[in-house]
Amino acid sequence: MAKNGFTTTIVHSDRRSGIEHGAIHQPMHASTEYAFADARELAAVFQGKAGFTYARQGTPTTAALEAKITQMEEGVGTVTFASGMAALAATFFSLLKSGDHLISSQHIFGNTNSLLGTLAGLGVDISFVDATDLASVQAAWRPDTRMVFTETLANPGTQVADLAGIGNWCRDKGLVYVVDNTLTSPLLFKPKSAHATLVVNSLSKHIGGHGNGLGGAVTNTGLFDWSAYPNIAEPYRKGAPTGWGLTQIKKKGLRDMGGTLSSDVAHRLGAGAETLVLRMNRICANALALAQHLESHSRVMRVHYPGLDSHAQHERAVALFGARFGGLMGIELDPAIDVFDFLNRLRVLALATHLGDNRTLVLPMAQTIYYEMGPERRAQMGISDTFLRVSIGIEDIEDLIGDFDQALAQS
Ligand SMILES: *Cc1c(COP(=O)(O)O)cnc(C)c1O
Repeated sequence: MAKNGFTTTIVHSDRRSGIEHGAIHQPMHASTEYAFADARELAAVFQGKAGFTYARQGTPTTAALEAKITQMEEGVGTVTFASGMAALAATFFSLLKSGDHLISSQHIFGNTNSLLGTLAGLGVDISFVDATDLASVQAAWRPDTRMVFTETLANPGTQVADLAGIGNWCRDKGLVYVVDNTLTSPLLFKPKSAHATLVVNSLSKHIGGHGNGLGGAVTNTGLFDWSAYPNIAEPYRKGAPTGWGLTQIKKKGLRDMGGTLSSDVAHRLGAGAETLVLRMNRICANALALAQHLESHSRVMRVHYPGLDSHAQHERAVALFGARFGGLMGIELDPAIDVFDFLNRLRVLALATHLGDNRTLVLPMAQTIYYEMGPERRAQMGISDTFLRVSIGIEDIEDLIGDFDQALAQS
């Protein structure tokens, strides 16, 4: 049978598992514990057979969502978590030990940056590199390098990492390659195609899409042989060596650390995921149209959006993502504009942090997320006082353009 498309696969995913009464959604399983009729079966599940024992390690509802993410990423397995940060924390803390070396992109989500600070405090040595430049990544390599981490598109500067170049190099070097695919989603880009080992998605963003549930996921692409990776504990060196890393993430990250996604939120995120393609196509079209409009506006100094010819990695973005460039953009207004007055004039956009939502959200960066780091560090990072991060939603494009135009006209 021909392989079904992205949306067909997702909308028919739950009912394929044979749910009672022909239900089209996997039920929201509320049970904390799972009882067994046969003691031998109970022992078998504790010893690694597929099944459910205690909800901290997952339920049939989270498993149904995991199956969808695995299909979207064309991977071989997924573990979901209570948030994207829980997924990232589980990945780093399960797979790295004191004395290991991690190479990370310097253009990463602020909370991930903070998480890596915690990891460094526990003895993991971290080199921050410019992931848009393969040579910068390669120069950081040491014999004790265990892992390379990058995001696909950076927030809020929208830098596009050399995802394929880094992936080929990691494969040659035998390094674990972890890619945070949150801003692109598996619709625009499959990190597996760039030889990633593990793919992280914050499900709170595009995959859920409705701003009504936090979740995260780690997907195993099945491309990495963990048998030579020194940090896999003996009990998890069972079955195909391509699966050992994710098994350890599940055992350490869910069973031991407990950052588990609840069944009711898993249901909401799964329902949101059914329309990922429709929402994302609209978001990407809206974003490109708005970016083009604002780039030619006299009160806008600069628009950072990978779909624009003026973007430093535009050609790479076309090669990796095709004709869709995501929903995030950075906008630098004329420095003469009072950014708070401008924001207060907006009538459609919501002044809110978060991204990948159905609603268009705007946030001034220097006064919020980058406030703590002070003016000097902000200047180094190119974050001016009128730098806005905008996450484009699915509204009617005339309303988005009109809202910017009226607020700019008064500023
Ligand atoms: C939001 C975000 C996260 C964290 O996800 P949460 O679900 O909010 O914990 C991680 N990485 C990126 C790139 C993000 O944008």
